[in-house]
Amino acid sequence: MTMSETRPRADLLIADASQLLTCGAGPYDPAPQEHVWLAISGEVIAAVGERAAVEAAVDCTQAEVIDASGCVVAPGFVDSHTHLVFGGSRVEEYAAKMTEPDLAALRARGVKTGPLATVEMTRAATEEELTAQAAARLQGMLAAGTTTVESKSGYGLSIVGELTLLRVNRRLAAAGPVDVISTFLGAHGFPPDVPREAYLHTLLEEMTPLVAAEGLAQFADVWCDDGYYTAQESRRVLEACRAAGMEPKIHADAYSYIGGSDLAAEMAMVSIDHLNYTPRAVMGKLAAAGVVGVVMPALDFAVRHPRPFDVRAMIAEGMTMALATDLCPGCWTESQQFVMALACRLYGMSPAEAIWAATMGGALALRLGDRGALTPGKLADIQIWDVPRYEHVIYRLGGNVVRQVIKRGTVVVDRGAAAGAPVAAAPERSGV
Ligand code: ZN
Repeated sequence: MTMSETRPRADLLIADASQLLTCGAGPYDPAPQEHVWLAISGEVIAAVGERAAVEAAVDCTQAEVIDASGCVVAPGFVDSHTHLVFGGSRVEEYAAKMTEPDLAALRARGVKTGPLATVEMTRAATEEELTAQAAARLQGMLAAGTTTVESKSGYGLSIVGELTLLRVNRRLAAAGPVDVISTFLGAHGFPPDVPREAYLHTLLEEMTPLVAAEGLAQFADVWCDDGYYTAQESRRVLEACRAAGMEPKIHADAYSYIGGSDLAAEMAMVSIDHLNYTPRAVMGKLAAAGVVGVVMPALDFAVRHPRPFDVRAMIAEGMTMALATDLCPGCWTESQQFVMALACRLYGMSPAEAIWAATMGGALALRLGDRGALTPGKLADIQIWDVPRYEHVIYRLGGNVVRQVIKRGTVVVDRGAAAGAPVAAAPERSGV
């Protein structure tokens, strides 16, 4: 047998990247390499390195080639915390709050506010409508470089409502190309029309078994905070979900410290999300328990949060951090680039840390070992930025540096033909 017969064959070759961020060298290190080639076979990365090394390892003679000179090549973003599926919008509330921060005054004027307003709008929408609206947001996320999205239920707050949202997740995941990871968040709040203990009973005894039986969610989540679920209630919900096969995550310490972060460490949850009021001593416990911290600067920006989370302390205590959008009706951003810009300017992350947290950190927050880095064997989920070095991504405020997005080895976004060109309707590859 000759070498050419034993080497894997590349289908797609990304040639001569000015910088390629492997993100596979260890925490917070995007590990940029210069003048690098990357070969893709099928859905996975076959080789990364200097041209000669890649061509020695992989038969590139049949490959279609993307010229990445002058560009940065990075892993697709993994957005590990979103409320992607919801009905309507809260634009009226958001706009009014710019000059009228008093919610009671807004409500007196008839403006519907807060998550329960979204519950009402979501319940009024059909499954078809919810799917179409979420799909449009997913397309926006993809165009901004995100190739994997976690999506929570939580605006149904009834058996039929929550199952509907999770079925939308399943439909979106089947439609592709973005991978949608489903999280059951029946404990997002308490519905206004059911007594608290009765809702908890429904959640534990009816919803959780139904979600598990249909295999509708990989993760379960609770909003543990003053005015939402107590730490004790959060434990009940998440222990039941874990017993039913869903791994626990938690919204905790966003507006108060009532024990949610201690519970996250004790239960060794997959992730703890928000962390504004988390005491430093608990950060060490979270690090020791392997709980990923998910911080969401855009949410804090959108609500003008009074208490910044301390990501520098979390990193110093050894925590693994992820950056996510928290896309929801109260924080409508589809862009991890915007999130990274805020994380750096407002919270003191370095551009290198932010990129790692928005890619590999997100993958770790979803226990996805097959993505988040550009190393051989990982999924070919890749974005190509039309800038020569990676710091531009947090420097060009409010922009979109993405030129192309590759999902599982296929080019699914190509904005390169002309600035502002629309997303490609069908997958296509640029030839030599
Ligand atoms: Zn959330």
